[in-house]
Amino acid sequence: MSKNFCNQCGECCRNIPVDFENQLVFFDGIQPLNEDFKSLLIPVSKTKNITFCSCKYLLINKCTNPNRPEMCTNYPSSPFAYIKEGCGFYGEIFSKLEHIKQKIRKLKEEIISYESLPVIDKDTQKLIAHHQAIINKYKQYGSELW
Ligand code: SF4
Ligand code: SF4
Repeated sequence: MSKNFCNQCGECCRNIPVDFENQLVFFDGIQPLNEDFKSLLIPVSKTKNITFCSCKYLLINKCTNPNRPEMCTNYPSSPFAYIKEGCGFYGEIFSKLEHIKQKIRKLKEEIISYESLPVIDKDTQKLIAHHQAIINKYKQYGSELW
């Protein structure tokens, strides 16, 4: 991020959604759950396949871990970071995400215009496939609905 907007509320370190079955954590985007990060987690509640966890190093609102894993020191680096209410990064992440969504909407508009041509030649088909591949890249974040 361009600036450190962290207000040290500690919210990102509690109720972290984790899919233990598929070894995924919904933190700085959807990330593989590595052993370093897994070792910090204390399960708090569960809904279907998602377990909400807090970090064992979170003391009141403060991180007490002298060796924070990379996932923590980088957070939030992705426009798909899971941002909690009150997080100082909300505005920046929101605008980055909107920027990506606008690009995807533009690609979808272009696909519609290509598909409405009377004849779709091979080059146009390639272009449609290329655009669709980019849209699909963000599918896990809901790009089909943007
Ligand atoms: S939720 Fe945001 S503001 Fe709060 S500690 Fe985490 S990064 Fe900082
Ligand atoms: S190590 Fe610190 S920054 Fe990382 S999740 Fe735990 S409390 Fe938060």
